Amino acid sequence: MKRRAAPACALAILLLASSGYAVPNLIMLSIDDGVTDSALDTAYTATVVESGVGNPNGCRPPITWCAAHGTAPMLHCDCDAVLQAHSLGHELATHTVTHPDNGESLSYEEWVEVVGNQRSWLAGCGVPEEEVVGFRAPYYVTNSALGSALQDLGFLQSCPEVQKATHSHLFCGCAREVPAEALPGSGGRHSDPQPVDGKSILERLQEDFESKRGSGVPVGIKVHEPYLEDRQAMQTLITNRIRLSNRGEIIAFLRWALGQEDTWAVTYSQYISWIEAGQGSLNGKVLSNSTCDAA
Ligand SMILES: [Zn+2]
Repeated sequence: MKRRAAPACALAILLLASSGYAVPNLIMLSIDDGVTDSALDTAYTATVVESGVGNPNGCRPPITWCAAHGTAPMLHCDCDAVLQAHSLGHELATHTVTHPDNGESLSYEEWVEVVGNQRSWLAGCGVPEEEVVGFRAPYYVTNSALGSALQDLGFLQSCPEVQKATHSHLFCGCAREVPAEALPGSGGRHSDPQPVDGKSILERLQEDFESKRGSGVPVGIKVHEPYLEDRQAMQTLITNRIRLSNRGEIIAFLRWALGQEDTWAVTYSQYISWIEAGQGSLNGKVLSNSTCDAA
């Protein structure tokens, strides 16, 4: 299986791989759209906590929330839930305040407004603005105006790839991008993976993990709250198909992956910090200052 690395990070990973340090396996769990008590309960309590897994340092996997505070029910963010997530060591990122479905035609000014206003909204809840360093485009749709907008908002010191408006590098930190690739065999879907090509969701995630094992390239679990609800279990009854619910598959993957040697679940900004640190263990300078929710 060919290894895929974000071009922006490929050199750093190559240097890591040749630096003599063991390169960990990485998992990043992100939830898009609303941040509410319900979403926190579904994604964290009923999925991460329920899985019983922890990182090698004994902390539960943190979630990166790509938060959008719009008007539709699934786009509602609640300050109490946002602060609870923050107090658990989760990352709050901006996914725009309006969740526009026309990213390809937004102007520079419109990007600045929708990206920046969500960061301001999170800051208004009490999340330190300097900690809101991540962005994900709604529907992964971007255009050439976005790169300048992110740069001028202080999200990017250098992020030239986003200027190309590709669909592969859409989550940016201060100086790095993280690949937003789809899982093997998917047909290009970035979020909410489904079984395809006779492979279960668990098998697709495992295949992705194996293709990246020891490379430092993260496996992304990119989902929404409804994906993790129990609707699939009901559907299974109706169609008489035997398979786990989506959430059951994600729990199974977390248990399998965190059972592999030197495997860590991190936030997007922790991953970027680790790349920028250039070497060494995650447990050192990168995670030592992070809030730990002990497993
Ligand atoms: Zn979204």
